[in-house]
Amino acid sequence: MRTAATPPTLPAIRARAKSRDSAVIRRAYGTSDDHATWTEKPSNAFGALISLAKGQREVIQAGAPALRERAREIEPARIESGEIQELIAEMLASCRARGVGLAAPQLGTSLRVIVLEDTEEGMSDVSAGDRAAQRRAPFAAKVIINPVLTPVGDASAAFFEGCLSVAGYRAVVRRHLRVRCRGLGGDGTAVDFEASGWMARILQHEVDHLNGVLYVDRMDSRTFRRVDKMNEPLPGDHLEFGKAVVLGESSIAPKSSAAAPPSVDDVEDRVKGRKNTRRSR
Ligand code: ZN
Repeated sequence: MRTAATPPTLPAIRARAKSRDSAVIRRAYGTSDDHATWTEKPSNAFGALISLAKGQREVIQAGAPALRERAREIEPARIESGEIQELIAEMLASCRARGVGLAAPQLGTSLRVIVLEDTEEGMSDVSAGDRAAQRRAPFAAKVIINPVLTPVGDASAAFFEGCLSVAGYRAVVRRHLRVRCRGLGGDGTAVDFEASGWMARILQHEVDHLNGVLYVDRMDSRTFRRVDKMNEPLPGDHLEFGKAVVLGESSIAPKSSAAAPPSVDDVEDRVKGRKNTRRSR
């Protein structure tokens, strides 16, 4: 029997802290490194079973108000809860089955979580030339909670992209070529890394979702097309707006140029503006 008056010894405190740490580690369904790479625990049969039992939710489509809301931050203390861990597992399963990235609002959950993964198999229909131009290479699954992106340098790149929530269409979108990503991994580990090329594009696309922004807000609308029209040529110079669409990288990003990707705030303002003003024609 121990009395409350006895102060705990240093080894006892250390042991308690250690057991608390390991209890915390056990609660997450995987581990994250500082590049947000998510390694699922092989023993996570429980998580897999729960996901299976719940079934996969549909990816919601453009027009659903949930895709136009700003998703909520997640308290770090909540990351290892079953609720968030199950959401991560569900998002990864959904992303793997359908694409290269997914944001929680696309499943109807207004929380700031994104997942992304690009595999050799997933890019098997992309030519070697396109892969090189897009700077696309396989990478292991990443989970990022409360992600914050900042552009690195002035270079941008314009390529076709699509969205699981705008099913069946593609358009050319100009994005920053390099970004720095900070946030928390799937187990709460601090994340801070730089991404370029296709990974940087996916990150920007998914973080946009957390701010209620879709790629159609940033696209060159003249290039918008159905997926079965992907082999049709790009439109030429526009009578009113000039310059033909050019795919690929650009290092020229003057402040007021149309070539520079609009900031998230610009696009959010535009989205709000559209919402608040009725078009007269
Ligand atoms: Zn999307």
